[in-house]
Amino acid sequence: MSEIAREIVCVECGGTAHLISFLPEEGLEPGESLAYRCADCNDRFDVIWEEDDG
Ligand SMILES: [Zn+2]
Repeated sequence: MSEIAREIVCVECGGTAHLISFLPEEGLEPGESLAYRCADCNDRFDVIWEEDDG
C-alpha cells in the first residue's frame, strides 16, 4: 500500500500543507478524501486517496 503523505506542497503558495484528516488504523479505501491545511496561506485542500498500484 502506498504511503499516505502527512505533508504536501501547497498549490497556492508553495508552502507546507499538513494533513488534518483522521486516519483510520485499517487504512483508507481508494476514493476517500484527505484534507490538508496550508500553514502559510491557511487554505484547505481535499485530496482523493488512490492506491498507486499501476
Ligand atoms: Zn498555501
